[in-house]
Amino acid sequence: MAPKGALRHTVSGTAVAAWRGAVDLILPPRCLSCGLLIDQQAALCVACWAAMSFVSEPCCSRCGLPFDHDPGHDPHHGAEGGLSCGACLRNDPPFQRARAVLRYDDASRRLVLGFKHADRTEASGTFALWMERVAADLIADCDLIAPVPLHWRRLFLRRYNQAALLSEALAKRSGLPGLPDLLVRRRATPSQGRLSADRRRRNVAGAFAVRPGRRDALRGRRLLLVDGVMTTGATVSACARAALSGGAAAVDVVVLARALRD
Ligand SMILES: [Zn+2]
Ligand SMILES: [Zn+2]
Repeated sequence: MAPKGALRHTVSGTAVAAWRGAVDLILPPRCLSCGLLIDQQAALCVACWAAMSFVSEPCCSRCGLPFDHDPGHDPHHGAEGGLSCGACLRNDPPFQRARAVLRYDDASRRLVLGFKHADRTEASGTFALWMERVAADLIADCDLIAPVPLHWRRLFLRRYNQAALLSEALAKRSGLPGLPDLLVRRRATPSQGRLSADRRRRNVAGAFAVRPGRRDALRGRRLLLVDGVMTTGATVSACARAALSGGAAAVDVVVLARALRD
């Protein structure tokens, strides 16, 4: 007779497979972006996949800006020896490195903001896989993962924090400890939508803090900060400053999509 544990394992494995099959029957897999029926869960259809612009090397060693997007500046060697873009040379960012999976454009906007056509947990599992690839070096160096927080009022309106879902999925994939409540948003900030880079910076300055009960967990550690979309970098920079003044040794950033100026 098989040991009890092994038997239970087999039964639960079969049960999971049956459940998966049942789920496929009820909810046939759909493209994460456009909702087209496809033959695989948590994936993109061929057309949506082809439309996505994945950020690729060579890019700024600090903020991850692809160099084909920074035509005004020849890349220069920054303090750490890597090639930096003009913006990072002029203004040293508070984070050490930032990396993005996708360029934020019409094709990725629907995917990033939607989560509509698929189970959110499944979609964030796919996004975490992509993030793990672009941020492999960052993950290897970091001790903790935490999301950019939403103010409770906005969380209430939206019902979920996308950054928190991504952070949780990446923690699960990478094995790095996740601290979903590490940072708090001290005040609700007006929507960043139409603000200039300078206004965005002032808008979020001092808006974040380390939760007092989490300071010990952060002290001397290297934090990997996760967000859905990075626009000017004002939000992740404000979070990085808060984490550093809360005792973090350094902060790296990974986002699903990044807006690039034309
Ligand atoms: Zn599609
Ligand atoms: Zn840069």
